[in-house]
Amino acid sequence: MTRFIFTEKPSENPEFPLFSFDIYVTLHKALNRFPELATVPIHVWIQRKQKPLACISIDDDKHDIFLHSVLNHPDTPEQVIEYILIHELIHTRVPSREVNGIMKIHPPEFFEEEKRLVPERELYWAWIYIHLNGCIYPDKKHEGTIVKRNWKKSISGHRLSLEEFKRTFCIEHVLPTKQLLL
Ligand SMILES: [Zn+2]
Repeated sequence: MTRFIFTEKPSENPEFPLFSFDIYVTLHKALNRFPELATVPIHVWIQRKQKPLACISIDDDKHDIFLHSVLNHPDTPEQVIEYILIHELIHTRVPSREVNGIMKIHPPEFFEEEKRLVPERELYWAWIYIHLNGCIYPDKKHEGTIVKRNWKKSISGHRLSLEEFKRTFCIEHVLPTKQLLL
């Protein structure tokens, strides 16, 4: 059975990765935290025509991770993409469940696991939030983040490295009080 966290499917025309790192090496690094997935084929797709910033489709015999093309840039830090991949992979380990009568894609144990695997997650979210500001908005219903259709109009060209970013911004002041989700 396929469990779509969002209703994305692989496009017939996925984008070529423009990252300065090999996305499959990064996926491999992320998968080091998921020994239970050692035999499951996992593909990463970069797509222009998808709503979520990132999502995963979980199948019995394979998983597909989808990244929005707004992330596809040579200056997007590898750690940010690795964090996003880890977040999506946690969905294979921590299923959705009802919390106080409401079905939650990200129940409390999801965040515990994310914090355990990616202690610096707030830095990565702050980077995403500052660099994609104006291009993304929260999707309350699906507990995710949607990329605006006209994101190209709002995106600024320059992307800071994480080191530059840490020197320039104070993370606590950057992040909104509301939880940001993938
Ligand atoms: Zn998620």
